[in-house]
Amino acid sequence: MKINFIDLQAQYQAYKTEIDTAVLDVMASTQFIGGEVLKKLEKSLAAYTGAKHAIGCSSGTDALLLALMALDIGPGDEVITTPFTFIATAEVIALLGAKPVFVDIDPQSYNIDPALIEVAITKRTRAIMPVSLYGQCADMDAIHAIAATHNLPVIEDGCQSFGATYKGKKSCNLSTIGCTSFFPSKPLGAYGDGGAVFTSDDALATKISMLLNHGQNERYRHKYIGINGRLDTMQAAILSVKLAHFDGEVTKREEIGARYSHLLADTPVVTPTIAPQHTSVYAQYSIRSKERDALSTALQERGVPVAVHYPLPLHLQEAFAYLGYKAGDFPLSESISREIMSLPMSPYLTEAQQNYIVSLVKEVS
Ligand SMILES: *Cc1c(COP(=O)(O)O)cnc(C)c1O
Repeated sequence: MKINFIDLQAQYQAYKTEIDTAVLDVMASTQFIGGEVLKKLEKSLAAYTGAKHAIGCSSGTDALLLALMALDIGPGDEVITTPFTFIATAEVIALLGAKPVFVDIDPQSYNIDPALIEVAITKRTRAIMPVSLYGQCADMDAIHAIAATHNLPVIEDGCQSFGATYKGKKSCNLSTIGCTSFFPSKPLGAYGDGGAVFTSDDALATKISMLLNHGQNERYRHKYIGINGRLDTMQAAILSVKLAHFDGEVTKREEIGARYSHLLADTPVVTPTIAPQHTSVYAQYSIRSKERDALSTALQERGVPVAVHYPLPLHLQEAFAYLGYKAGDFPLSESISREIMSLPMSPYLTEAQQNYIVSLVKEVS
């Protein structure tokens, strides 16, 4: 049985006519940067999340970078985040000369543990950056309560959680600034790189729009040192088509995630815990096993692609050696990174494929 880790081909076939038309229209218009197509997408993204402003940008990484730049974070500043995430989260902090300060995770959600944030706050702390890992938001109310006490902005790394809800509100509209990624394999994926920044603060929105366009407020007048961080029109056109179908895909993701958890309930593997009042878009369907490496090899040998998100926490990465962390500093991130693995997940995974994957997991675990 042929199984893709993420079935982008099935998705393309499902919307092919609409996507092809949208792309050809952009080509015919020769408006490749900006324009009405981008404006329309930004309006739809804002409406979808409920945030006042959605600003398209070049990637999830740049969305995070722009959020930090908009808050003037730089040398001497500290930003609190999780070590159990993709490197981009902490990379952008370091890139601006600020210091990533890691805090361990909650063993149920794998997201930053709010109870550990307070002690990590110093006079230099400038922001808290929780990640909504695997498609489920962090405990945002608890994080906001701490942030409010210390008057700190919160940036949600929602690169995996676009479409997820927290207490009825959409991810990316939960904090000072929300960031997401449209990397092809994310829940809402473009056909190349892309991302978006969300905020309901008018001044921040204006600043972010300028920062991603070389800090220009009018042509060749540069108010800030910015970047080339624009979302191109072709990607905006494709994303507009896919966004219109996205609710249906989110429902499928939830069904497939719930079905995996049901089918794996009485096996030795640990299935994801979705907290009450949270929904997950299952950017990854990640299970834990003490025999992770053996299970992963066995599945791949039988034609089931799997992945590990993430095998080495950020505080143990060579690039962050200068921060001076050591093994044992974040025991939950470390032990979970040894046990975690992601099974194939997409709205197009069939029941037959899922049954096959589950039967193999049962057979080898
Ligand atoms: C994918 C991802 C990013 C980066 O997004 P890109 O669009 O690839 O730059 C950042 N943080 C997390 C948690 C991600 O999963």
